Amino acid sequence: MKIIKYLSITILCLLTVSVKSSELSDQISPESFNTTSVETSKVDVKKSLTNKIAGHPVVGNKWMIVTANAYASIAGSEILRDGGTAADAMVAAQSVLGLVEPESSGLGGGGFLIWYDSETRQVITLDGRETAPSSSHMSQFQNNDGESMKFFEAVVGGLSVGTPGIPALMFEAHKKWGKKQWGQLFTYGISLSEDGFIVSSKLSSSIQRDLERLKTFKLTRNYFIPDNLPLKKGDIIKNQAYGNTLKKIASSGIDEFYSGSIAAEIIDTVKNAKNNQGYLDKKDLKNYRVIERKPICIDYKNYDICGMGPPSSGGVAVAQIFKILENFDLKSINNFDPIIWQIIGDTMQLVFADRGLYVADSDFVNVPVEALIDAKYLKKRASEINPGTRTENILPGEPIDNLAMNLASDTSIELPSTSHISIVDQYGNALSMTSSVENAFGSRLMTQNGFLLNNQLTDFSFQYEKNGKLIANRLEPGKRPRSSMSPTIVLKDNMPVLVIGSPGGSNIIGFVINAIIGFIEWDMNVQEIVSMPHAINKWGKYEIEDSIYASNLDQALTTMGYETKIRKYFSGLNAISIGKKLKGGSDPRREGIALGE
Ligand code: GLU
Repeated sequence: MKIIKYLSITILCLLTVSVKSSELSDQISPESFNTTSVETSKVDVKKSLTNKIAGHPVVGNKWMIVTANAYASIAGSEILRDGGTAADAMVAAQSVLGLVEPESSGLGGGGFLIWYDSETRQVITLDGRETAPSSSHMSQFQNNDGESMKFFEAVVGGLSVGTPGIPALMFEAHKKWGKKQWGQLFTYGISLSEDGFIVSSKLSSSIQRDLERLKTFKLTRNYFIPDNLPLKKGDIIKNQAYGNTLKKIASSGIDEFYSGSIAAEIIDTVKNAKNNQGYLDKKDLKNYRVIERKPICIDYKNYDICGMGPPSSGGVAVAQIFKILENFDLKSINNFDPIIWQIIGDTMQLVFADRGLYVADSDFVNVPVEALIDAKYLKKRASEINPGTRTENILPGEPIDNLAMNLASDTSIELPSTSHISIVDQYGNALSMTSSVENAFGSRLMTQNGFLLNNQLTDFSFQYEKNGKLIANRLEPGKRPRSSMSPTIVLKDNMPVLVIGSPGGSNIIGFVINAIIGFIEWDMNVQEIVSMPHAINKWGKYEIEDSIYASNLDQALTTMGYETKIRKYFSGLNAISIGKKLKGGSDPRREGIALGE
């Protein structure tokens, strides 16, 4: 029985996620890594790609890193091999991602990080989310009639730029948990910027999809579309300005970024953006702080699942979902049975209803976190679900009396970009970090320093009230926009067993929970959980990933009364399981690479 299940899962993973080996090896050519341990890296990358194509995890004994791009995984792996911690490796990898995958994350963006500390056995979370400038205001994404601006009108330009958090997040993580010298962590990124890197298939297709918007600003156009020719896969490009920025950060920390010449350039770019000036100011950068926050941890069966609290909605949502699901015996239902997807989908709907009403930056609004993840409250929510029958009239719950009546569900828009890094080091520390410039290429504003600025402020609700009721995720000066990023660490007996996260806007929550369910309930390995087809219901249509199983599931859910949609997904789950061996898995839908030893 178990063998049949295993075989069907493997076949499912291999057949359903549309990756051809030629496409994968096209993604990056291992031939051209200009690294100190070039031979090792070439072999490792080839092995990793072969495993990914075959649907097998990469196996290691000491350390493991999974990032969205081979160059970034190599940068981190060299640090890990050389005795660095997961925090050291993250700094190296993130600084390379900002160069080779600039559409997704970078120095001009923000992110959230979860750390498992092997010495103290504690989970710590760091919030490196962007902040709204002190002179921004809650109706800035509305036109004169109070109507919401069109999404891209708001995104492209200075108005959407929040104070970047990534440099401070890297610095703080290194200060807390780094072993290597700070300056050493940028060597690979600097040489890659100066010697050149190969444009990947994802970067090139992202440019193709966004040509008109990328042409809005001169610096951005000149970099991504030089001589009117969009960068294409296989081109080798240099970014000397970015290399210089890394050099400054390497030699003198992040002061240059937050209060020196780089800060001045950022402000100049935002304030002088053609047709769309923003509010970011000197004092916003100078006052920026990474915040250490209490992790959101819940127990689920023999496991503890820990995630990021507000301003991300990820940790609360993942926690709520598992506390509802623990009221059902998922193990006894086959994962191909549509009933399992009805239960998971309805659970997600209940949670998304709560999310829209209650979750935002808890430093600004009262987010009833404890009440939202309370087992009794969620048992009551679970009682609304009847296996085999579609749950009707889903509405936000009332974890606290009389709070709902003062709030209105929000209307923020999220579209996919973003990047996820999972790392385990030889000391047993684990790091899960999701990092983003928000939309692909963020605000499309590039500074003289070779990096793009985020558009994270459009993660706020464009309207601040509805029918006289305030929206929790309204824009306020200094506030951090609500996120869906869900970097997660799953523990058993106080030891980490799974490190996971993904890009994908509000679908991140669905990607992450489905993968964790596969790991805990269906005994799938780490490559299988990141490859398995998605089915997600965010309190709207039930969306099913296009795969050979889609039409069966679609038919069954339609018969139950759901409105459905078959679609493609662009998740980028990067995960590590920790057992006798370390196993790394990277989502075949993107270009990620697991490297381990
Ligand atoms: N800005 C989104 C968030 O913070 C992430 C965007 C994405 O994943 O594409 O949730």
